Amino acid sequence: MKIGGLQKVSLIDYPGKICAIIFSQGCNFRCPYCHNPELVDPDIYGECQSEEGVFSFLKKRRGKLDAVTITGGEPTIQHDLEAFVKKIRTLGYLVKIDTNGSNPEVMNNLIKKKLVDYIAMDIKGPIQKYGTLTRSQVVEEKIQQSIASIMISGIPYEFRTTIVKSQLNLDDLLTIGKLIKNARLYVLQQFIASKTLDLSYIHEVTYSQLELEAMKQKLMKDIPDVMVR
Ligand code: SF4
Repeated sequence: MKIGGLQKVSLIDYPGKICAIIFSQGCNFRCPYCHNPELVDPDIYGECQSEEGVFSFLKKRRGKLDAVTITGGEPTIQHDLEAFVKKIRTLGYLVKIDTNGSNPEVMNNLIKKKLVDYIAMDIKGPIQKYGTLTRSQVVEEKIQQSIASIMISGIPYEFRTTIVKSQLNLDDLLTIGKLIKNARLYVLQQFIASKTLDLSYIHEVTYSQLELEAMKQKLMKDIPDVMVR
């Protein structure tokens, strides 16, 4: 497992739990607004942390932390993700995985083996816009397969979209609403320009709180639980 970073505690990343966050290094997408460029662009990768060090930390924090979130980058491109997750669970932690949905086989395997307790999947936009939004070659069916298998998994999950105003309009969001109709939870994430993969995106903005709330109300026709974060 290529570990690009460890956040030792978070009160907000795993709903209702105190967690550590492990950042995997490497991603198969190139979203221009990505706020973890050092985990995505090989030219600026930092040095990886040792698994040993991370597990030594997790062993010490047993009883103080409830869970571990594995995020990225994109965790599902790590060839040893399953073994890594098993080791974390052996220590008694719940596991949340954040994914871009490009590898439904990997997620399905974890779901079937009951190795994941919470899934957060990015929905980048309407399926037809994925190539443009992620600046990558995306197999659209794989995104749809991920959505379908997560929705029937029986595991708590959320779908979420980071909203850059120039990229997504109301119609796009309503199209997403149809794509994930009756999902358990849909989160509209405000884009915050701190660091971006494409430096020109540092000047981009999200919608106002009022605009996002209005979008949320419209989306609730298709998805009962929508939140703005
Ligand atoms: S936003 Fe997520 S999927 Fe997109 S490049 Fe960054 S880590 Fe990859």
